[in-house]
Amino acid sequence: MTEQKTHATDAGTLVWDAPSDEPTSASQKDSVLLEVQDLSKEFHVGGGLAGLVRGQPAQTVYAVNEVSFTLRRGESLGLAGESGCGKTTTGNLLVKMLEPTSGRILFEGQDISGLEGEALKAFRQRAQLMFQNPYEALNPRFTIYRSLVEPLLIHGWEKESDRLERILSTLRRVNLRPPEAFLNKYPHQLSGGQLQRVVLARSLVLDPDFLVADEPVSMLDVSVRAGILNTMRDLAREMGLTTLYISHDLSLLQYTCDRIAVMYLGRIVEIGPARVGGTPHVIENPQHPYTQALVSAVPVPDPSLARVRPRIREGVPKPTDIPPGCPFQERCPEVMQACLDSFPPWVEVDQQQYALCHLYGEHADSPKLSER
Ligand code: SF4
Repeated sequence: MTEQKTHATDAGTLVWDAPSDEPTSASQKDSVLLEVQDLSKEFHVGGGLAGLVRGQPAQTVYAVNEVSFTLRRGESLGLAGESGCGKTTTGNLLVKMLEPTSGRILFEGQDISGLEGEALKAFRQRAQLMFQNPYEALNPRFTIYRSLVEPLLIHGWEKESDRLERILSTLRRVNLRPPEAFLNKYPHQLSGGQLQRVVLARSLVLDPDFLVADEPVSMLDVSVRAGILNTMRDLAREMGLTTLYISHDLSLLQYTCDRIAVMYLGRIVEIGPARVGGTPHVIENPQHPYTQALVSAVPVPDPSLARVRPRIREGVPKPTDIPPGCPFQERCPEVMQACLDSFPPWVEVDQQQYALCHLYGEHADSPKLSER
C-alpha cells in the first residue's frame, strides 16, 4: 500500500496529488477488458389505470442513448454530467444491475446479456459496484464483519479461516487499521470516512477486475474526500483494477482518472485524456460547448482565475422529449441551423479527444443562430 499523498494548498484547500501518466503496466493497458457498443436504455413510465388516475400518460424515458466506449485493463474512466444525464444508469448496466434495451456489453469479449447461473455469478464476482451513500449501503444491524463476509459466503468461500484472512487483508488495504478493531463494530460507531472505506472494502473483498464507483465521496466531508480518493487510486494500481468513476465533479475526475467522458441527455458528447504530460487536458481544453459550461462551473480558489461562463440556458430538457438533431441545441450558445437539422458527427478535436459537435465538422463556418 502506498502512502497517502494529500497536501494543502496555499488557499488551505486539501487536494490530492495528481497521478503520474505512467500506465499501470504495458501488458495490462494493451488488453481491452470492457467494450460497450451502442448501449441504450429506455424506461416506460406512466400510462395504465394508475397513470390515468394520476394524470401521467404513458411516456418513454430515453435514459441512455447509443453509448459506446472501451476500457482497457487497469484503466480508469470518469463519467461526468448533470443529475439525470444517464451516468448512474450506464454504471448499473455495466455491472448487470439493469438490462439494456439495445446494444451490447462485452466483458473480455463475451456478451454479458446472455449470462445466467454460474456464469452470471462468476461475472458478479469480477464486476462490482461501490455505492454512493455509505449510510444506506450498509445494514445498520450488521457488524462490519458480517457485511464483509456475506459476499464471500455467496461465492462459496467455505473455510472460516480463509474468509477471516481475506476480510482482514481487505480492511488493511483500505487503510482501516488495525483491521481487527473494526470487525465487531456497527456502522453507527464509525465516521463517514471510515464507513465509506468499509463500503470500498466490501466491493473489493472478492478481488474484482472491474469496479463502478458511483459518486464515491459525494456524501463525505471535503476534509476526508482526498484520502479516500487516493486510497482508491492507489488500490486500483496495486490490484490492476479497471474503474468507472461516476461523478458530477470534474475536478475529482481530473485527478483520479485516465480519461474523462462527459454525458448529456444519455449520450457521451465528449471523451478524452484526463491529463497529457501531467497537465490536465479535457478540463483545461474542453471543446464541446456543454463540457465548456460544466468546466466553467468548477469552483477555483482564486476568484481572479475564475473562468468565463458560457451563456447556456438552465434546466435540462426532458429525457422523454429529446429533439432531433443535436440534443444540446436548446441550451447551446453556438447553435447553428445544422444543429437543428442533423445529428452531429464525432470529430477528433485534439490528441485522442473527441467531441460530438457540428462546430468541428463540415458546418464549422456556418453562422450561429444568435448572429442572425
Ligand atoms: Fe452546440 Fe451545435 Fe455543437 Fe450541438 S452540435 S453542441 S448545438 S454547436
